[in-house]
Amino acid sequence: VSTMAPIMDKVDSLVQANKVMIFSKSFCPFCNKVKSLFERHNAAFLALELDLMGEEGVSIQEALFAKTNQTTVPNVFVNGHHVGGCDATVIASKEGKLKELLEGGPKEYDYDLAIIGGGSGGIAASKEAAALGKKVVVFDFVKPTPIGTTWGLGGTCVNVGCIPKKLMHKAALFGEDFHDAPYFGWQLPEQVNHNWNKMVEEIQMYLKSLNFGYRTVLREKGVTYVNSYATFKEPNRLQAVDKKGKVTEVTARNFIVAVGGRPRYPEIPGAKEHCITSDDLFSLPYCPGKTLLVGASYIALECAGFLHGVGLDVSVMVRSIFLRGFDQQMANLIGDHMESRGIKFVRGCVPTSVEKIEEGAPGLLKVTGKMDDGTEYVENFNTVIFAIGRDACTQSLNLEAMGVKLNASNGKIIADEGEKSTSGHIHAIGDVLDGKLELTPVAIQAGKLLVRRLYTTSEALTDYANVPTTVFTPLEYGCVGLSEEDALAKYGAENIEVYHTHFQPLEYALSKRDQFKSYGKLVCVKNENYRVVGFHVLGPNAGEITQGYALGIKLGATKADFANLIGIHPTCAEETVKLHLLANL
Ligand code: FAD
Ligand code: NDP
Repeated sequence: VSTMAPIMDKVDSLVQANKVMIFSKSFCPFCNKVKSLFERHNAAFLALELDLMGEEGVSIQEALFAKTNQTTVPNVFVNGHHVGGCDATVIASKEGKLKELLEGGPKEYDYDLAIIGGGSGGIAASKEAAALGKKVVVFDFVKPTPIGTTWGLGGTCVNVGCIPKKLMHKAALFGEDFHDAPYFGWQLPEQVNHNWNKMVEEIQMYLKSLNFGYRTVLREKGVTYVNSYATFKEPNRLQAVDKKGKVTEVTARNFIVAVGGRPRYPEIPGAKEHCITSDDLFSLPYCPGKTLLVGASYIALECAGFLHGVGLDVSVMVRSIFLRGFDQQMANLIGDHMESRGIKFVRGCVPTSVEKIEEGAPGLLKVTGKMDDGTEYVENFNTVIFAIGRDACTQSLNLEAMGVKLNASNGKIIADEGEKSTSGHIHAIGDVLDGKLELTPVAIQAGKLLVRRLYTTSEALTDYANVPTTVFTPLEYGCVGLSEEDALAKYGAENIEVYHTHFQPLEYALSKRDQFKSYGKLVCVKNENYRVVGFHVLGPNAGEITQGYALGIKLGATKADFANLIGIHPTCAEETVKLHLLANL
């Protein structure tokens, strides 16, 4: 120790005298990385190149080991605090700790990370951060719908989205199986009845088990869950109010806003008073009866499909086109198929008022609408469901006062490719993020990768391109990549070749159901070796089929790759490896 004392004094005085002190080696790429990091922070530093100092450099390195337990360079100190090596410095920079050190010293916060929203994105991010040893809090609170529906932890997907929707879709598919079963020798009673209340009760029981599972998993991972509505009070401080009005405040170094969206109501008389949305449908304590869905996108078409499938009289009010943004040929095939099943479409119409004409559960509602040609539409329904889009839950978060820029037209958070908002320590993921897809796996992926980037050296960004998706209509529609319209616009008509097939799923052959309504389509770019830029399939289990092919599309599969792929016989998936040019059909 005595021989090291003078050297240790030298190390200490260098650390004290320099705001940023880097013990470095001139040839070391990690040292250079750290130097450029401080340059980006506009922070002056002294870098002592130990390899150019002969024996003294070796002694300094030994003294540094005794002081910091670190043998390697760079060895970084800021304002007298030991930061560590290259990785530790990079992570401190990403987390915001480096900035605090440069400004005087580390600040004390209650949490490393506070997440607003315990849905798909928020929960995934919280678990990832806790696994990396961070102190995390999640706020999740559900404001009741106009008719008072509310639910537990897990967000939209678990409670009022993907999960109950897929289960009700399954309920409807049973009806199709009952129709086909006699052709396979099953003897069923003449009339097979569906019990709405039993379906809702079973689904809700399952959802409660998922809510419980989420609470348990957060507790096990050491994530603090607070069932309160959170808003920003200061850039690093949240105020949260629970359902009894109890107010808590917490501070955190970083924030993730993952508040999702809620269904929109139109500004027409009777909308909020008498109508419901998907937020109410999955727990509706009575059978909705004759139902009108307003809207023609994912939610309207899926709900119309399963409600009709469980035996209800269903109409869909379509303002303009089906499934805006999707391949329109596929969208119209879905519409044709649903119509052939008995779902009614009121095309070119918007609602103008809803009046209650009979109390009850369900009661009777008079719907008035305006057709494109100016004529009036009037019809009575037991239930009216609005599925006309969703509003981001950013209105009362006080985000703009914190420097977070919102898209004025939809209230969503504007962020960079790393989901960082215009206020550097506040990030946004999932449905609330402007310009990105509103899908559960997208929110989960964004949450996980964002946390890894914040707390590790990872630079991996969420890839929002070629995300596969499926619309769970009676015949499911799966797709990945571009619609034919978007491909034509992007590559030009002369560069696009489209391959098609109509096919008959074997499982429908005996009952002759939906004869040749299933359809597959590949959109290829000619001058890129016929790379497949759009994959579309309409048929049973399209979601399962599309997930697998999505990998091929992401890896740049060409039409020849599809043609060379040996199919699995007899499946619907194999149909997509033997598509033809339209002319060859
Ligand atoms: P959410 O899951 O919406 O979670 C946000 C949470 O934050 C909510 O619990 C909310 O109450 C809470 N919150 C809001 N503000 C605050 C606040 N200030 N303080 C505290 N808590 C707050 N996607 C698919 O991939 N596949 C599907 O099949 C599918 N089907 C769907 C069907 C329907 C009917 C709907 C509505 C959506 C469907 N989606 C589907 C979309 C999917 O549900 C969403 O993309 C996903 O849930 C978004 O996750 P998120 O984390 O962004 O937000
Ligand atoms: P969308 O925003 O996708 O569609 C809104 C629909 O409502 C459009 O058809 C639109 O018509 C119509 N519309 C809008 N305003 C009015 C109005 N005033 N009167 C009548 N019609 C109107 O919303 P969704 O609610 O269907 O879905 C939201 C998101 O949820 C989707 O983008 C999707 O990402 C996600 N989701 C995913 C599912 C899945 O993965 N299977 C399932 C369900 C939802 P127009 O075209 O004329 O504008």
